[in-house]
Amino acid sequence: METYDVAIIGGGPAGVSAAIYAKRKLLRTVLISREIGGQVLLTNNIENYPGFVERSGMRLAEYFEEQLKELSVEIVEDAAKEIRREGGSFIVVCGEGREFLCRSVIATGGSSHKRLNVPGEDEFFGRGVYVCATCDAPLAKDKIVAVVGGGNAAFQSADLLARYASKVYLIHRRNEFRADGILVERVKAHKNVEMMTGIVVREIRGKDRVESMLIEDSEGRRIEIPVQKVFVEIGREVKLDYMKGLVQTNQYGQAIVDRLQRTSCEGIFAAGEITDLPYGQAIISAGQGAVAALAVFDYLSKKGP
Ligand SMILES: Cc1cc2nc3c(=O)[nH]c(=O)nc-3n(C[C@H](O)[C@H](O)[C@H](O)COP(=O)(O)OP(=O)(O)OC[C@H]3O[C@@H](n4cnc5c(N)ncnc54)[C@H](O)[C@@H]3O)c2cc1C
Repeated sequence: METYDVAIIGGGPAGVSAAIYAKRKLLRTVLISREIGGQVLLTNNIENYPGFVERSGMRLAEYFEEQLKELSVEIVEDAAKEIRREGGSFIVVCGEGREFLCRSVIATGGSSHKRLNVPGEDEFFGRGVYVCATCDAPLAKDKIVAVVGGGNAAFQSADLLARYASKVYLIHRRNEFRADGILVERVKAHKNVEMMTGIVVREIRGKDRVESMLIEDSEGRRIEIPVQKVFVEIGREVKLDYMKGLVQTNQYGQAIVDRLQRTSCEGIFAAGEITDLPYGQAIISAGQGAVAALAVFDYLSKKGP
């Protein structure tokens, strides 16, 4: 079996960037991912990726792919199912049964935003329903907005959106918030924020664009509130089942890494939204991917052949 210096799991900004840096360090590299682009493929409008002014997420993913081809990065269209230790190396087992022997791993499986799963959510996704305030807050300028969620992400979103929107409803299904007290106080200080607890969202409504939301209280009473933008901030699912038990994770299931993107397992590095990084942005994942590849190069150089 061929031995790779590094197997990169995931084809989002973190994985692509890691592959570019690894390949330019002449590491024998394999990138395993069902697609290239990751969450960027779900993004209609990227306005904050330096040097990229075309804005379409699909286009950015095409550029990623072009660059990987130009560097002749070996891409395996599959999903990693398991990582096993093999002496001082690893075997990455894929869904279709293929196995890759590698001296190191960079895991960049990313995460996905949890969804409400209510009528209207899919229909208006990306054009009235959003999952990232840092990405899309400017679209809420002078609009009535709902933020759904009760943790830190929801409160950080509400804090930002209150600066753009005319009104922000913060809607949470429980009666208590999970967010840090200091964040709750900061959001409360915005005069245009109304907090609603013990409320679940039943439907997002509108004709061509979002116009209202149907919500229900704990006694089953339903009302319709006017909103033009909805930000769903109810958590994320991190994709690292294939290395559970091998690397240490935090209370959110994210891989704990140091500043060289090293996990608790020697030889396994992690980058992007799979890690405990506080900000989910393409440029940040790409930056971490680059660090991981450079750290892998140093790690293998020190380790020797
Ligand atoms: C709707 C939306 C809009 C956004 N807008 C912006 C924006 O405007 N600006 C911005 O900077 N960011 C934006 N983001 C966030 C940005 O897309 C993410 O921060 C970034 O894509 C994270 O990169 P990543 O490489 O860490 O993970 P991801 O992009 O999630 O990529 C993970 C990759 O791993 C693969 N993978 C998962 N499991 C496995 C497995 N078992 N085996 C192999 N591969 C696997 C996935 O298929 C994917 O290719 C947006 C996100 C969304 C959802």
